[in-house]
Amino acid sequence: MKKIILGTMGNQPFKISGGGVSGEHATVTIDDHGNWSIADMGSTNGTFLRDDATGELSPVGTTPIHIHPMTFIVLGSDDSMGCCFYARQVLKPGDFNDEHLYICDKHQQLNAQEQKSSSITKRIKQFTFIAMLGITILSFEPHVIEWLGGNSKMFNFYRIFSLASSGVGAFYDGKSLKDKVKRKRKLFNQCPNPQCSHHMSASEIEDKRCAKCGK
Ligand SMILES: [Zn+2]
Repeated sequence: MKKIILGTMGNQPFKISGGGVSGEHATVTIDDHGNWSIADMGSTNGTFLRDDATGELSPVGTTPIHIHPMTFIVLGSDDSMGCCFYARQVLKPGDFNDEHLYICDKHQQLNAQEQKSSSITKRIKQFTFIAMLGITILSFEPHVIEWLGGNSKMFNFYRIFSLASSGVGAFYDGKSLKDKVKRKRKLFNQCPNPQCSHHMSASEIEDKRCAKCGK
């Protein structure tokens, strides 16, 4: 079993200086079966983990909770501006191979989500346009109304369908979906280097080293 104390006075393989991090801030434990867990040690500013799906940070208590090597840990701030790193850095400091793969994978997932949301938006726009076009034609052409059977079931169905689809068009917000993906992209694009606390750019992640300090 391995027990790593994270903090300004911790035994992690990189130096943590200040930034709201306590002397003994949190403990990462790796048991003999390779199970990872983390617990806060009653730190002043708290320990947070990033959700793999949403990117939201949630606090960790003093009860150990299960993590994995690619869990994103934030010490001392709930907005990822504290000391942050992927858990595996406590074993392999300065090795960013898995981070690189993880971030590439996230990008692919987000690209797929973005493509899907823009194709849904396009379809809803077309659908709404056709419905509105139909309503407009009908409003000008009493013969069409007559041909559809005046107030028959078919005509009522058509009216409900048109109303519903124009409603969807009015309330469906494609932009907010796009913004959501954008926000996620920003969140998951982060690869902090705990050795120098620099957030590495895409090209630095690809080079697997910090361009500023070479670590
Ligand atoms: Zn650096």
